Amino acid sequence: MTAADADEEVAADLAERVRDGELRLYELEDHTDADTAAMARRLLLERETDADLSTVGDYSFDASEASGTNIENMTGAVQVPVGVVGPVRLDGEAAADEHYLPLATTEGALLASVNRGCATIRESGGATARVLKSKMTRAPVFRVEDVAAASEVVSWVRANEDRIREAAESTTSHGELVELTPYVVGDNVFLRFGYDSKDAMGMNMATIATQEACELVDAETPASLVALSGNLCTDKKPAAINAVEGRGRTVSADVEISAETVESVLKTTPAAIAEVNTRKNHVGSAKAGSLGFNAQAANVVAAAFLATGQDPAQVVEGSNVITTADVRVDEAGNRSLYASVTLASLELGTVGGGTKLPTQAEGLDVVGVRGGGDPAGTNADALAEVVAVATLAGELSLLGALAASHLASAHEQLGR
Ligand code: NAP
Repeated sequence: MTAADADEEVAADLAERVRDGELRLYELEDHTDADTAAMARRLLLERETDADLSTVGDYSFDASEASGTNIENMTGAVQVPVGVVGPVRLDGEAAADEHYLPLATTEGALLASVNRGCATIRESGGATARVLKSKMTRAPVFRVEDVAAASEVVSWVRANEDRIREAAESTTSHGELVELTPYVVGDNVFLRFGYDSKDAMGMNMATIATQEACELVDAETPASLVALSGNLCTDKKPAAINAVEGRGRTVSADVEISAETVESVLKTTPAAIAEVNTRKNHVGSAKAGSLGFNAQAANVVAAAFLATGQDPAQVVEGSNVITTADVRVDEAGNRSLYASVTLASLELGTVGGGTKLPTQAEGLDVVGVRGGGDPAGTNADALAEVVAVATLAGELSLLGALAASHLASAHEQLGR
């Protein structure tokens, strides 16, 4: 019997024992290795649902690298096509020169669109990018008797920030508490902790550190901890606080493009792009009550997140992006397009979470930012700058396409 046949026999036996109620789905790794446990679940599912899971089972990484830390009840892997855009040329603080960016998506035309924007930026000598803030937040909620007690807790927190910082930072060798803001709503006290999490996206790091700090607050004030996350953080939900205050990295990118380049690459004019941006991204988004004042930022953020091992649910925050586009005229009368994107809450990392999985780590290698930076935080800063420039590229391309088709139809009408 070959080793593969032996594994299949073990998997079939385990699947049978789950069907008989002798074992639970999540207990299989206690009886075999992670790959065979995944095979057992596929056999069980194939029998119970008639699905053919041979493709889901055809993955190339070692299941033990993912099972337990990245996934429970693993059955295999979903494959998303991945491509590349670039090089994006940028002048950043952490990233410089040219970078390729892998993007994983099933949306046809997305990479072609972003790549056209990258070409426009290259033709203009590159974009500038800067990380303006870096803080991962966690905001526990405490119960107090009344508003007088709430005020007492807030005063204690303000007077004891050093002790709270010491408690929080005792749990991490990388994280630094950089912000602590109390909010009171009647008999609820929220403390919004913000950490510079360096190269980690930081959600686990912030949660563990905040738990330690909460024990001090709980012990020394009339406040009782109700939940370690009180939703004022705000994680994975649309929230104005992230768009205004930032969460993760706040990063901006901009570029100035001559009218000639707008005409030759984007087939339109700076004025037409500026008009589409104002009417669509600003007026339309305002009327809709949107938190995102952009054309397709989430497309680029989501595809970059999938390709580089980020937490995909945080695309919610990644869509808090404002795009600006204005016509500029220099002293000699030359017209150009000035365009920028500001991503208020881009939550990403180059260590931890899904970044260590082999295909995602290869994606980070393409950008040149796998693992911890030197100094810590510079790799995640560099990734944020590259994603910001690619987002700018996506905005330019889509605004350009909309403006060009508007111009084309205007010309058609005029020609009749
Ligand atoms: P993590 O994998 O939990 O931790 C990363 C750890 O790597 C850091 O805590 C740090 O250890 C260490 N590290 C080594 N080199 C580092 C460097 N250069 N910079 C920063 N840290 C370095 O990752 P995480 O980013 O904190 O959390 C990400 C995970 O959280 C994702 O899997 C995500 O899906 C999940 N998540 C959790 C929650 C939650 O509420 N818990 C919510 C959303 C998402 P030290 O701290 O010891 O220095």
